[in-house]
Amino acid sequence: MSKRIRRGRLVVISAPSGAGKTTLVRGLIARDPRFEFSVSYTTREQRPNETAGVDYHFVTTARFEQLKAAGEFLEYAQVFDNYYATGREAVETLLRAGRHVVVEIDWQGARQVRAQMPDCCCIFIVPPSVAALESRLRSRQTDSDQVIRRRLRDSLDDLSHWREFDYIVVNDHLEAALDELAGLASGRLRRNRVGTQRVARRMQRLLGDS
Ligand code: 5GP
Repeated sequence: MSKRIRRGRLVVISAPSGAGKTTLVRGLIARDPRFEFSVSYTTREQRPNETAGVDYHFVTTARFEQLKAAGEFLEYAQVFDNYYATGREAVETLLRAGRHVVVEIDWQGARQVRAQMPDCCCIFIVPPSVAALESRLRSRQTDSDQVIRRRLRDSLDDLSHWREFDYIVVNDHLEAALDELAGLASGRLRRNRVGTQRVARRMQRLLGDS
């Protein structure tokens, strides 16, 4: 007798740049083998520390347009000067096989995924303060002050979309944030739900000083 496989959970994780999202997402996947990372398509240049097919599928703009026209994308967006997208079929196959799938995408993509798959769990990672965000952006960039200021502005703009998510994770202490992310992603935890007073106050404290 064949056993019916329970469909996996689709977990959407977004964050403004400088919130520490990549470390948290990697930690989640490393910690819990039920989660699978969805490898996105991008038209941006491969960075030296990245592996094709593992970090991203690196494609030309022409190929990206072709896939988009063929309806292969669950969502797509332009972020900074490049295009990014999530492949529909890969995500579907994993979910059908009972795997939990993590898509790490920006808020524009999160909005599109939610419209098509309302059951997904959308988590927004935020920095503990705007000052912490700025210092993270500064510490990892060799960029000019002007570029850093632009990134900070972009990050603050991203942050303004927090209400479109289900849960907020404040990345203050890495281990605590990882515990919280793992709990929310697996459905075990329901803490820091958007719409609660607690989260409204937390976000006001965060954005009030921007
Ligand atoms: P990076 O180029 O630094 O890896 O990513 C830049 C931004 O693009 C990040 O905010 C990241 O979440 C977003 N991103 C990465 N993959 C996707 C995707 O498949 N779809 C969308 N909408 N955004 C993505």
